[in-house]
Amino acid sequence: MDASDPTLRPRPDAEVVVDLGAVRHNVRRLRELVWGDRPADERGQVMVVVKADAYGHGLVPVARAARQAGAEWLGAATPAEALALREAGDAGRLLCWLAAPGHDFAPLVSADVDVTAYSVAQLEEVVRGARVAGRPARLQLKLDTGLSRGGAARDDWLALVTAARHAQDDGDVRVTGVWSHLACADEPGHPANAAQLAAFEDGLALVADAGLEPEVRHLANSAGALWHPGARHDLVRLGIASYGVSPAPEVATSDELGLVPAMTVRGRLVMVKELAEGDGVSYGHTWTAPAPTRVGLVPMGYGDGVPRHGSSRAELLVAGVRRPVLGRICMDQLVVEAAGAEAGDEVLLLGPGSAGEPTAADWAAWCDTIGYEVVTRMGGRQVRSWVGEDER
Ligand SMILES: *Cc1c(COP(=O)(O)O)cnc(C)c1O
Repeated sequence: MDASDPTLRPRPDAEVVVDLGAVRHNVRRLRELVWGDRPADERGQVMVVVKADAYGHGLVPVARAARQAGAEWLGAATPAEALALREAGDAGRLLCWLAAPGHDFAPLVSADVDVTAYSVAQLEEVVRGARVAGRPARLQLKLDTGLSRGGAARDDWLALVTAARHAQDDGDVRVTGVWSHLACADEPGHPANAAQLAAFEDGLALVADAGLEPEVRHLANSAGALWHPGARHDLVRLGIASYGVSPAPEVATSDELGLVPAMTVRGRLVMVKELAEGDGVSYGHTWTAPAPTRVGLVPMGYGDGVPRHGSSRAELLVAGVRRPVLGRICMDQLVVEAAGAEAGDEVLLLGPGSAGEPTAADWAAWCDTIGYEVVTRMGGRQVRSWVGEDER
């Protein structure tokens, strides 16, 4: 334990608690939703995406929970995330997909991580890494089917596939996967979805023509897996839904999907006080008491991941009652309406919603963002802990 790290010191007034039982439930529930209507031998696989510290939930504990719930794959963005999982003892299938030019792939190859090539130049770097490691790289090829982000452009795809075939013949790589990523999966009626599906099929045809037989072909994130059955292929890459947050609450809420949000952010009121009519609250006095008002001080702010856009918009559950945030959210603290509450009373900033506390979806609506950003950025000086670690 690093005593210089303030987030490791006990701090019951500001906590992030992650329910690993909820993560396991969600992974199992999603497998059922995605693959449950197929005969057992035709079901595909599940990847739980644990990038960005598992969307703020904790890389290693979440990875362990995902494996307990049967995830065949884990997904990481950066090589560092993938290697951290190996160092923590994870030995299952693991894919990463975001390396910059000049990256040394040898450690990833040695660690049996599936790596992704976006271009022939990157494939050559993977081959170099494989030669240093002294074993073939497990290589996945990414096609840009319309997101215009990572992956080979359509015009460069044949060259990448051909080069991968040669590298496989030379014994430097094994092509284990071919994949792409959807731009508009959270808008089920968007025409880009069908266009990307068709482009992916075209890309897969070139892979088959080259005589490559990847273990997995995959295209779907959470929204794709839930709402585009044609995008499921052999494997779905589940990020946000694994954490119990709907990728698009306007399509279906997490409740409607049978998912349980895993993150709770809670604390205690540091003090309460009575304001007189006309008293301004917090920086800029953007909120002024219209009448005598009892307020409470919550010891968390944007330095702890509480979005400042929630100023005078967000609500918290204080002593069991929903109450508005008053005025601007500061770096370390915020002020909340607190009629009848006392210093030391419990404050729920975020949670599954079962006690009436706000959810990530609520914060997203208040702050004009998405639940992904709310949970991923949550954390700072709160003590983070995990519950439900051992039960199965
Ligand atoms: C983040 C990410 C995912 C997971 O997306 P969700 O919408 O969170 O399910 C899947 N695939 C790739 C390539 C990603 O970057």
